[in-house]
Amino acid sequence: MKRVLVIGDGQLGLMLAEAAARLGLWLDRVSPEHCLLFHGTGRQGTALPHDWSAADYDIVTAEREHLPANALMARLAGHPGFGAHAAITTLADRRSQKALLDRLGIATADWCLVESQADIERFSRLHGGPVVVKSAQGGYDGRGQWRLDAARAAAAPAALYGRMIAERSVRFVRELSLVGARAADGSCVFYPLVENRHREGMLRFTLAPARAARGYQRRAEQMLRRIMDELGYTGVMAVELFEEDGKLLVNELAPRVHNSGHWSQDGTTLDQFELHLRALCDLPMPPPRTTGHTVMINLVGCAFDPAWLSVPHARLHWYGKEVRGGRKLGHINLQAPTLRALLARLAALAPLLDREHALAVEEASEGLRPPPTTVYPQRSQRAHILRSGAERVTG
Ligand code: AMP
Repeated sequence: MKRVLVIGDGQLGLMLAEAAARLGLWLDRVSPEHCLLFHGTGRQGTALPHDWSAADYDIVTAEREHLPANALMARLAGHPGFGAHAAITTLADRRSQKALLDRLGIATADWCLVESQADIERFSRLHGGPVVVKSAQGGYDGRGQWRLDAARAAAAPAALYGRMIAERSVRFVRELSLVGARAADGSCVFYPLVENRHREGMLRFTLAPARAARGYQRRAEQMLRRIMDELGYTGVMAVELFEEDGKLLVNELAPRVHNSGHWSQDGTTLDQFELHLRALCDLPMPPPRTTGHTVMINLVGCAFDPAWLSVPHARLHWYGKEVRGGRKLGHINLQAPTLRALLARLAALAPLLDREHALAVEEASEGLRPPPTTVYPQRSQRAHILRSGAERVTG
């Protein structure tokens, strides 16, 4: 039995532990800041001796890309089973991540390094409006981000000059993401593209598969495969994308299982957590098959409500974390064989949620409804329309 160590003690590691239990793998999680070890899905951490080296583990992986610089982390970084460490280091910093994308010729929002207020002013003038300033390291879920124009350039924290980038503000029609996995032999499998809606920089829900995105699937797979190949990466990786003017631009890369892949737990034959472990442990990786339509709703900052469990087909994944405003505490996957059935299941769930989450469900339902179809007018109407110069009407 392979022994896997996950760096991080959050919900992603927890769900990796659930998948490991199914595969009969030994999996522990380590908090690198607190030097605590959690066995499997256990909540009670054991303090580690200061010279602990993880020598008992075959594989080391991480549930997050931002890793502290301390003695324990330095030992883990040198572990022979932590093959992704270099890739994680490259992607954890927006400067090196963007440079990688540019080097590979993969489309991403234009960017520049911010070393002074003048850089933001110049970049904003160049793009004729506000730009998105992001700290190079450590920002996530919209933290460490500022939308600034030349007049407000001074609002960016001067302490981060040299460690911030500015990006063109992308006028996207929607945000998509692709999750895929690469095995050690270089073979890859991918999930379908999904559509993600964010609020205040945080993912609120995912529609899977994304509607009318087949034309983008191959392009997105080529991008992600190219990146994983270049990094010699093994495991699951996610790429967040903007759809703008019929093109895909990379927003960011995550060298790990990803929130926008949570739907795969209940909407596919092989979820991203098990897929990641299979890739790392050299186990078979058949392409995951999608079963119907799925919506994943993130539960953010709200207390657990057992009423959610009364909805048939609502699969709750509650992380057991302390409830705090703005914190991801769980998610609900709703899956159905048809869009119509999924809409009915969403309608049953909405009244049991607080206002904010009910609105997210409403928005998700809107996103699933077919766009208005083009109906061709009757003969009598046609003459009128031709006279008035219109070509067709939509209903
Ligand atoms: P990030 O942490 O980079 O994924 O950003 C969080 C969210 O902020 C994204 O999902 C977008 O909704 C928005 N965002 C980030 N970068 C840009 C950009 N360059 N242009 C427009 N919106 C952005």
